[in-house]
Amino acid sequence: MTAVVIGGGVAGLVAARRLATTGEHVVLLEASDRLGGRVAPVVLDGLVLDSGAESFAVRGGAVRAMVDGLGLGADVVEPRGSAWVALPDRVVPLPAGGLLGIPSSPLATDVRRVVDTGGSLRAYADRLLPVLKVGRYPMLGPLVRGRMGPRVLDRLVAPVVEGVYGAHPDAVPVDAIAPGLNSAITTTGALSAAVLRLRTAAPPGAAAQGVVGGVHRLVDALRGALAGVEVRTLAPVIGLHPDPYGPGWTVVTAERDHRADRVVLAADGGAALDLLSDAAPALTALPRPAPAVSTAVLLTVDDPRLDAAPRGTGVLRSSLRDDVGATAITHATAKWGWLADRLPAHRHVLRLAYRGAGTPSDAQVQVDAAALLGFATAVPRSRADVVWSDPAPALAPETLAIRRALQEGALPAGLAVAGAWTAGTGLASVVASAERAARV
Ligand SMILES: Cc1cc2nc3c(=O)[nH]c(=O)nc-3n(C[C@H](O)[C@H](O)[C@H](O)COP(=O)(O)OP(=O)(O)OC[C@H]3O[C@@H](n4cnc5c(N)ncnc54)[C@H](O)[C@@H]3O)c2cc1C
Repeated sequence: MTAVVIGGGVAGLVAARRLATTGEHVVLLEASDRLGGRVAPVVLDGLVLDSGAESFAVRGGAVRAMVDGLGLGADVVEPRGSAWVALPDRVVPLPAGGLLGIPSSPLATDVRRVVDTGGSLRAYADRLLPVLKVGRYPMLGPLVRGRMGPRVLDRLVAPVVEGVYGAHPDAVPVDAIAPGLNSAITTTGALSAAVLRLRTAAPPGAAAQGVVGGVHRLVDALRGALAGVEVRTLAPVIGLHPDPYGPGWTVVTAERDHRADRVVLAADGGAALDLLSDAAPALTALPRPAPAVSTAVLLTVDDPRLDAAPRGTGVLRSSLRDDVGATAITHATAKWGWLADRLPAHRHVLRLAYRGAGTPSDAQVQVDAAALLGFATAVPRSRADVVWSDPAPALAPETLAIRRALQEGALPAGLAVAGAWTAGTGLASVVASAERAARV
């Protein structure tokens, strides 16, 4: 029996590792010259830093189980502190205890600090308004605006959802971003109570964790755990066809055809949809999402004013701030103790996130950093830019429609899909989807 995995991002690596345990011959085909996809290192000022994913959600336990299985459990760390938000009139800490910025205690002091007393009282009305007993709230933005008011939406929820998922809450289905929230609202009778219930059900500790040395270490560890797997880089798959002579598949690369009894398609959404044209033509006829392109700008800076982590782990931009180009800044040395320990006194790593692939000038980057932090830092020592493209953003309406069609019409036997576009952005969803796909 032969299994072929298409794509060597985390989804493909996890699927290949799982398939290898069944004793099948496993071939992993990766288009680029490196494994890991959107988990990748970048070298800056003598440091190896994460340029894509830099943490993973604890939810579901799939990533932690994988990390433990790879022998890296002792290197798992929690971030120090939490994030702030840059509003038009101030830069303030995000309240504790929320979900996607939705507060569980609308009258709490840290909520009032962001939305003011009027906004807090309006949010409290959520406790008095009747909830849907039949049906579900479809979209996140209208749900929050209707129950807690526009200030909670604009000043808390939109910065978090836009900063983390790159989409405005008005365009995000509740069930896609917060599974379980709808039914918790029905059961508890309020949005804030539902948030509290989901938070209480989550494991104690931080919602996200990291790895000493960076999350990119997972890629090498996964590669090391692929004993017996035939790994080929620079091997883009250009065709995927049902075997004309019986069950199974033909996987086409420029170099050769691979015959497979089963295939896990773990390429990104754009490539995956192209490759599904034979196996699932109905899917590929659906409208495609617009790609989401983003740029990470990493800086090192010597500035003692950053030593005390004055803005926690970093700052998310409120969309009410139209004067700032960057959508967020992460203070990486404040967030990760292991990184601070590797640097001389007063040296810091900052990471700004931008939409699009344009290269902001050094002056623009400094203006944006100052606007988000609320003060100007020293001139950076060094800078590295990394452009990321996501051909099928997981929360785009077109991707969600394709996912629904995928769930409704089963794929032919021996073919499974995995990865962020099918399961949701982030390693927690990606690892779980890859484990499932390898078991089909
Ligand atoms: C800047 C940034 C920050 C992020 N931060 C976090 C974070 O902190 N926490 C978190 O959990 N997630 C984060 N994410 C999201 C996370 O990185 C992704 O959800 C996850 O890595 C996606 O993994 P994947 O395997 O599904 O896809 P990818 O990583 O995109 O891998 C797909 C692979 O398929 C290959 N491929 C494409 N076409 C073909 C083909 N025809 N043949 C063979 N191979 C092909 C690609 O080259 C690629 O290697 C971040 C993403 C970015 C861009």
